[in-house]
Amino acid sequence: MARAIRVKDPDRCIGCYSCMLACARLVHRSHSLTKSAIRVQTRGGLQSKWGIDVCRACPDAPCAEACPTGALTPRAGGGVIWRRNKCSRCGNCANACVLRVIHFDEEGYPIICLYCGHCARFCPQEVIVWEEIGP
Ligand code: SF4
Ligand code: SF4
Repeated sequence: MARAIRVKDPDRCIGCYSCMLACARLVHRSHSLTKSAIRVQTRGGLQSKWGIDVCRACPDAPCAEACPTGALTPRAGGGVIWRRNKCSRCGNCANACVLRVIHFDEEGYPIICLYCGHCARFCPQEVIVWEEIGP
């Protein structure tokens, strides 16, 4: 069964950054929030709501289509697989992402969501869920 990360109820977000820390720490072995593939930020000042930006696993992933080297390929069930050894750091994937959720590390490599579900597991408010989709 394929699974997808979904932002279920953004109004419940308390801005604790557990999701970002889980991604940075457990996936990218870093304490820096900039290494997270999921981003939580206010939309316009401290009085505004939290926005949660995460890869939505587009069916025909534009990032993979834009990748000239084959470093990004569609993953069964949605999302993409990234191969560092094929990546030329051109940035095409980030430009093609309609949700603008691809960021880069200090070496210029894209930080790609792996669909591991750690962000959802560590969210105390059930804002993010990792749910089954389709067969
Ligand atoms: S930065 Fe890497 S993954 Fe992204 S489009 Fe370029 S080669 Fe592909
Ligand atoms: S873990 Fe959940 S409540 Fe905390 S910042 Fe992320 S989405 Fe918001």
